[in-house]
Amino acid sequence: MDKLIKSISSSGSFRAYVLDSTETVRTAQEKHQTLSSSTVALGRTLIANQILAANQKGDSKITVKVIGDSSFGHIISVADTKGHVKGYIQNTGVDIKKTATGEVLVGPFMGNGHFVTIIDYGTGNPYTSTTPLISGEIGEDFAYYLTESEQTPSAVGLNVLLDQDDKVKVAGGFMLQVLPGATEEEIARYEKRIQEMPAISTLLESDDHINALLSAIYGDEDYKVLSEEEIGFACDCSRQRFEAALITLGNAELKAMAEEDHGAEITCQFCGETYTFTEQDLEALIND
Ligand SMILES: [Zn+2]
Repeated sequence: MDKLIKSISSSGSFRAYVLDSTETVRTAQEKHQTLSSSTVALGRTLIANQILAANQKGDSKITVKVIGDSSFGHIISVADTKGHVKGYIQNTGVDIKKTATGEVLVGPFMGNGHFVTIIDYGTGNPYTSTTPLISGEIGEDFAYYLTESEQTPSAVGLNVLLDQDDKVKVAGGFMLQVLPGATEEEIARYEKRIQEMPAISTLLESDDHINALLSAIYGDEDYKVLSEEEIGFACDCSRQRFEAALITLGNAELKAMAEEDHGAEITCQFCGETYTFTEQDLEALIND
């Protein structure tokens, strides 16, 4: 299980979340069989959604859509406030690296587009917000969204590192937010530290990247850990849910599927699980 740590500066003016999302992104890669760039792009979106979900109260559902006009297509992720996240990328096969360094490229293949969030508090009135993609690197686009849309100055660092076989080695990140009451002097101090912070990939490479991130954020200032929460990839799809979706097609359509196709096979976009309905299953749905 991965974890997310919520912390606050002892002055109460800065809040930071620090995450280990390695298993989350590894599971996503296994389920979707994504190649290098697609793995990193999907992984960063899942991490952004884990941060966003941790920021919500109550029992809400949080959707993040990164919609670009280049090779990746859309990246869609849905999280809840219990630590679960799921997601998929339209094009799983983008695999582009810099020749000299082997660095996996993301931004150019996201292209221009939007970072969209939909927060559903279960009231039937979801709150949607859209900001433009500023680099397509997802972490920067997410920080821009937080600063513009939620009006909270935020710094975000998140990444996914791959091993030599392009499998997920480590994934994670942080979010730092300025809270009301922060003094200018304090803000300047944190800003300087964030600017001088080692690259997020370097911090993720540390043996204990959670602590490496916390000390990069707070330096030698005191902080308090508020909570440690379990997070992970989980899909809430089920046979019953797809049965309900089939029923909404109506009897004529179900009959056609039974008689012409002798059954139906439905694959969940979010986790790749396939549900098979035989001709008899479909007839049972019609007769219900
Ligand atoms: Zn599923």
